[in-house]
Amino acid sequence: MSAKNQVSGQLHILDHPLAAAQLSILRARATLPNEFRQALHKMALLLLVEAARSWETQPVAMESPLAPFSGSVLPRPVALVPILRAGLGLQEGMLPLLPEASTGHVGLYRDPATLRPVKYYCRLPSNLAEAEVLVLDPMLATGHSAAEAVSIVKAAGATRVQLVCVLACPPGVAEMQRAHPDVPIITAAIDPILNDAGYIVPGLGDAGDRYFGTT
Ligand code: URA
Repeated sequence: MSAKNQVSGQLHILDHPLAAAQLSILRARATLPNEFRQALHKMALLLLVEAARSWETQPVAMESPLAPFSGSVLPRPVALVPILRAGLGLQEGMLPLLPEASTGHVGLYRDPATLRPVKYYCRLPSNLAEAEVLVLDPMLATGHSAAEAVSIVKAAGATRVQLVCVLACPPGVAEMQRAHPDVPIITAAIDPILNDAGYIVPGLGDAGDRYFGTT
């Protein structure tokens, strides 16, 4: 495995030994819920570092104990938008590095007749137009929920949007790239299969159930 991240168009695959190690913990059937939570939080930080690579910084004149130096600040606010419920695990993991970030919540369920996502909850920060917005969902499976969540934040004014997930699969990536070709996808890996039940294979199972211990 190369030590470089793979970037293809708007798809960023985090190729890093620390991410690979956390991903293996997340995938393993034997991983207990508390271990799964810890691993998802660590993975969230690694993905955040990759997502933030593209963010602008502003130079600020500062002083160290020894000399003046040119420091950096982030000029834009950051908004984290987890898709309920598994996205909450990524949001919680990112907060230690971005305690000042605001959080919006998007709840979507799949209509059993149409199989399309239907919004049942949405509460977003008012500053999305200025913010770096990260839409969070550990699993990019069919891509329908992620694409809908991105449409929702864009309709609320967001222009700088990225989708952060732990695992993606080709149909999910294709759907996102069809619906939102401008939105970068940050993921730790692409798995080959989306099964008939909508699970990514080999994947890690149901991310929400494993994070919240509801299996
Ligand atoms: N959601 C999950 O939690 N797991 C998958 O494999 C697909 C969607």
